[in-house]
Amino acid sequence: MNVLLPDTLPQALELLSQNGDAVPMAGGTDLMVHWHVRPEAHQHTFVDLSRLEALKPLSWTADMLVLGGLTTYWDVIRDERTREEFPLLVDAARQVGAIQIQARGTWAGNIVNASPAADGVPVLMAYDAIVVLESRRGREQVPLDRFYSGYKQMRRRPDELIVAIHVPRRRYSYQVFEKVGSRRAQAIAKVGLAVTRSDAGWRVVAASVAPTIRRCPTVERLLETGAAVASPSDLLPAIAQDVAPIDDIRSTAHYRTRVMARLLYHDLRDFWGK
Ligand SMILES: Cc1cc2nc3c(=O)[nH]c(=O)nc-3n(C[C@H](O)[C@H](O)[C@H](O)COP(=O)(O)OP(=O)(O)OC[C@H]3O[C@@H](n4cnc5c(N)ncnc54)[C@H](O)[C@@H]3O)c2cc1C
Repeated sequence: MNVLLPDTLPQALELLSQNGDAVPMAGGTDLMVHWHVRPEAHQHTFVDLSRLEALKPLSWTADMLVLGGLTTYWDVIRDERTREEFPLLVDAARQVGAIQIQARGTWAGNIVNASPAADGVPVLMAYDAIVVLESRRGREQVPLDRFYSGYKQMRRRPDELIVAIHVPRRRYSYQVFEKVGSRRAQAIAKVGLAVTRSDAGWRVVAASVAPTIRRCPTVERLLETGAAVASPSDLLPAIAQDVAPIDDIRSTAHYRTRVMARLLYHDLRDFWGK
């Protein structure tokens, strides 16, 4: 195992540009968990980001919350202002693993790990977060809802780091995060859901029901129209347009679809045309 320890962001970007196969490491809670079953990973070169102070702070501007490329769940849980303005970030952070994982795991790591069952990604997407990528060639910003192109496929080149995540500040009239797992803590989601409503409209984001975390445009449009929905089954045609759940070790496609419909119906019953 070869570990490089840059002290600054420019050094880290230089190392990534020189070592095409180098893997950035933040909290290591995804990378290290498979260590004993993936011996091929032992040959990789890792770029440990832990000394990059520039990526750590969580900060506020007039227009947005800025999460650094190394901001952890615990940083968000501790921030009173985030709790007030973006409560779903705190709800999701509190449901990631246990305190040890919340203290080490980062939001950027959650995005790049690209699990369809992630908890950080759906709430960020429901708040229209923007991923800020940087390499030696420069910076680019990608809306999180356009970041993934397929299972574990994303708009990040190997030499790019997520240096920040921008979360636009808006007035929200509705927000909810739901995670359904086999137990309350230390569980991977069978179904996840984040819903927000602001001046920008409805955002309905689903987890564990498709190869990537994704927005549900058909359900969003249904909410915008104020159409009447009398029961969870009335939502199934719209849900079928937006997601593609599978049977796997954690659940079945049938269960996932039904649970998603029930969550949407019961959480949003005040809005379904009544
Ligand atoms: C016991 C346990 C429980 C868990 N529970 C949950 C849970 O409930 N919900 C959940 O969503 N996740 C869970 N996880 C997964 C994990 O903790 C999260 O996905 C976490 O956010 C990963 O962040 P990290 O900093 O540890 O990433 P790392 O493991 O360091 O990296 C993950 C990936 O991101 C890349 N990466 C990291 N930072 C950057 C960056 N700044 N720029 C570019 N690439 C980067 C790495 O190269 C790697 O590909 C759990 C993990 C464990 C071990």
